[in-house]
Amino acid sequence: MTPLGDEIRAMIAADGPLSVGEYMELCLTHPELGYYTTRDPLGTRGDFITAPEISQMFGELIGLWAAAVWQTMGSPGAVHLVELGPGRGTLIADALRALAVVPDFRAALNVHLVELSPVLRRRQEETLAGFGVPIAWHPTVTDLPHGPSIVIANEFFDALPVEQAVKVPGGWHERRIGLEGERLAFTRDPELIMRRDDALPVRMRGAPVGAVFEWRSDSIARQLARHASSYGVLLVLDYGHAATGIGDTLQAVSAHGFVDPLEAPGEADLTAHVDFQALREAAVGAGARVHGPLPQGEFLRRLGLLERASRLKANATAAQAAEIDAALARLTAPGPTGMGELFKVMAFAHPRLRTPPGFDR
Ligand code: SAH
Repeated sequence: MTPLGDEIRAMIAADGPLSVGEYMELCLTHPELGYYTTRDPLGTRGDFITAPEISQMFGELIGLWAAAVWQTMGSPGAVHLVELGPGRGTLIADALRALAVVPDFRAALNVHLVELSPVLRRRQEETLAGFGVPIAWHPTVTDLPHGPSIVIANEFFDALPVEQAVKVPGGWHERRIGLEGERLAFTRDPELIMRRDDALPVRMRGAPVGAVFEWRSDSIARQLARHASSYGVLLVLDYGHAATGIGDTLQAVSAHGFVDPLEAPGEADLTAHVDFQALREAAVGAGARVHGPLPQGEFLRRLGLLERASRLKANATAAQAAEIDAALARLTAPGPTGMGELFKVMAFAHPRLRTPPGFDR
């Protein structure tokens, strides 16, 4: 067991089982022993890789997308470019480099990064030193600045805690994490949260015994939707499903492979798919206009990914050209393991703003 695992077992022994969301939150963001608190997990030598780490084209296209959105906002003289969970800062760095071609937008920019990991914050400071753009850091989305804003969230929502319920013959119970001897194990709360399926969306009624239903608190989504509907646009890029459904998507990843989510608390990444239907409902309820979700591959193609790749290849060596082709394939590949379809893109926007680029066809 890991040091955090020992702490979690002591907590359970004292106070009883944890909800899946409580467990996930401790594993990822415990102030001393959490996964994100203690490491930079990205890259080929880390645990997982993300689109901006696969190719510079990703951040470049998002940067140019932001400039086009700024124009639909009437090109305000000051605008906040916000990123939630910026990892190594690669997306913003590639965006700022590409934005050399839109100097008025670049000059209007204040960059704000929402990051709770001290390790990644240092990494972001290194990546972004010397860009000559004002940058501020915030630990949570609660202190996002007022005023015209374009907010980017790539692989941020999947890291937010998810709760689960499991169906047994008598109805639905909350799924919890308790102790089986010395080991952490999934259990269920004795209290019934739902006897029959009536409270579930019609499509999900009649799920078999053992089925798992997941949900996230929508407080962050609502807060971001209120911000977007007052000040501009939020772009969410993440893996997940377009419609709410049944299924256990909690997953732990370490060194680019799946591991048991209860095996190494604080040492493996824990995520769950984003439910884009739930996001949409939270955003609409909070007054935002919602665009998408679109498959990520389609969105990137609409922003000009193929043209950008050809331009880069025109000046590349054969080895570099092969790398560009590999990145292109990875970002747009369909199927359950590619990033083209499983990953989806959704925007929350001010209701009177023109449809953001990429969503307008
Ligand atoms: N967007 C980056 C990194 C994705 S990893 C990329 O695509 O490469 C998730 C990021 O979100 C990390 O920077 C992590 O430290 C941050 N993060 C996770 N949970 C968070 C939370 N609750 N509040 C703020 N940042 C969080």
